[in-house]
Amino acid sequence: MSDYLNVSGRIFDIQKFSVHDGPGVRTIVFFKGCALRCKWCCNPESQKHEIQTMLQNGKEKTIGRDVTVAEVLEIVRQDMPYYRRSGGGLTLSGGEMLCQSDFAYALLRSAKEAAINTAVETTGFASYEVIEKLLPHIDTVLMDIKHTNSQKHKAFTTQPNELILENAVKIAKNAKKLIIRVPVIPTFNDTPEEIGDIAKFAASLEGVTEINLLPYHRFGKDKYDGLNREYLMGDLPSPTDEQMQQLKSVAERYGLTCKIGG
Ligand code: SF4
Repeated sequence: MSDYLNVSGRIFDIQKFSVHDGPGVRTIVFFKGCALRCKWCCNPESQKHEIQTMLQNGKEKTIGRDVTVAEVLEIVRQDMPYYRRSGGGLTLSGGEMLCQSDFAYALLRSAKEAAINTAVETTGFASYEVIEKLLPHIDTVLMDIKHTNSQKHKAFTTQPNELILENAVKIAKNAKKLIIRVPVIPTFNDTPEEIGDIAKFAASLEGVTEINLLPYHRFGKDKYDGLNREYLMGDLPSPTDEQMQQLKSVAERYGLTCKIGG
């Protein structure tokens, strides 16, 4: 029995039967709170740690609730047969799970004690000591590298990228498996040169063989209205299939397996 079952944290959603956030069929736990403010974020309700109210279809919805590890695991365990058949399990997403690292640690450790496969989706934006403690309990790290240019990274996410790139090198050395993910965002990083620079960096990381390109979409726009916030991406269209294929072939030139989407 885990010592960590009573540790609590703040989440804003749990989604079952995801097939895009790590191997197999997975249950995704969305942590509330993030240190970045990406202009294109499709989950703006994830960014603040505070519990919020968002208008959805004309009705007020409370975003965020405090839960214990035991409560989360009870839900995650319901789909054990699907995980076994598909190689799936639990994924911590957000927001950013590193912003609640004690809760993330307790959840990951308890999941592993219950023989559940674990994955995290992360920006890698935290001190490496925080990340290092979690790594032994993570089977797959899905880490965003959004841009290799720190100034541009800061202009679109509010944070520079030096810490993220340094952590990527250390995570690659110590993680069981690291997959690099790139949200492909118009006017930010959607040129062959920019994706090429990211792929070159990813290919230089120890043991990294896979990169995923995630095309920008506007599905989160209504949430900005619901939070009474301005949507900063305006009417920019999503990248075309042709453009994504072109960027995929750029990434493949660096010897990486490249998937479009999760
Ligand atoms: S890192 Fe992810 S959750 Fe955080 S602001 Fe950026 S897109 Fe949103």
